[in-house]
Amino acid sequence: MRKYVIMGVQGSGKGTHAKMLAEDFDLVHIAVGDIFRWNVQNHTKIGAQVRRIMAAGQLVSDDLVEGVVKERLAGHDWNYGFIIDGFPRNERQAEFFLESYDIDGVIHLDLPDSEVARRVLARRLCSNCGMDYSLLDNSPSSEGKCDACGGGLIQREDDTEEALAVRLRDYHEKTNPVLDIFRRKEYVVTVDSRPPKEEVQQAVRQMLGLVPRPLAVSGQEPETAKAAAS
Ligand SMILES: [Zn+2]
Repeated sequence: MRKYVIMGVQGSGKGTHAKMLAEDFDLVHIAVGDIFRWNVQNHTKIGAQVRRIMAAGQLVSDDLVEGVVKERLAGHDWNYGFIIDGFPRNERQAEFFLESYDIDGVIHLDLPDSEVARRVLARRLCSNCGMDYSLLDNSPSSEGKCDACGGGLIQREDDTEEALAVRLRDYHEKTNPVLDIFRRKEYVVTVDSRPPKEEVQQAVRQMLGLVPRPLAVSGQEPETAKAAAS
């Protein structure tokens, strides 16, 4: 059984690395943001609560977030463990988490603010079909136009330098104390998230003492890690 928390600023590849680990080690990937989005889209009671809070321009309370996490983990569909992403976001949530669950490691994907800005400001979105692009490594074949539908590419409204600076400040203010709490328990492995994702993933596995990710051979499923994990 492996229980991990993954932390990192937006653009650090948190979701990607969580998925890669989840696939190879049969972990359940719990993305707290996705759970909230699902609830909103499916008009659940929690979804209605979240909608009200957001309409009032407020943040979802710790109680609500903790309740959602508790309920998700009570599902016990994680025979081999879980990797949780988007939680805990502040000191109180971290204390709650440590009191309720024992964890094996906290993966901290480290990315300098300047690199976050470079990545986030290069993001584009199709105004028609919603497809995501990055002008850094995933540009459309014709400038400013969606490959899938020909729609115009735009930036998200909150992907401006000013808005990002506010988000980064907020992120560090809340996250640094969380990392400090986990560091005191010696759970944290910090990995530089600037290299290509395969390299970052190998570094994560090495630091956690997991078997390395097998190099992808075309037409063949990487099985080694899975077999070793079970
Ligand atoms: Zn499109």
